[in-house]
Amino acid sequence: MLPVLWKIGGNNAFKMGGLKVFYVKEKLNDTVEITVELYDDNVFCTCPGCGCEVSIDLAELFKDGEGDLYGTAVYCSECSKTRWEGNR
Ligand SMILES: [Zn+2]
Repeated sequence: MLPVLWKIGGNNAFKMGGLKVFYVKEKLNDTVEITVELYDDNVFCTCPGCGCEVSIDLAELFKDGEGDLYGTAVYCSECSKTRWEGNR
């Protein structure tokens, strides 16, 4: 796995919007580096329950001020429902 750098353009990046763009930078080799800007609708993670792709709303993830990309797992709606019902 290649290193991914999370560029943060300010403490209130999400609130300010506009100029503050988050992006992922990945070095493919010594000469090629790709940069992908992050928006509300192009961030995904893998559901730890079934392995399917889940769309992530970063603003939602960070709104409580405790967002942690490494410590956060997001379940898909099906698995969330199953877990929710299983906990009752
Ligand atoms: Zn799932």
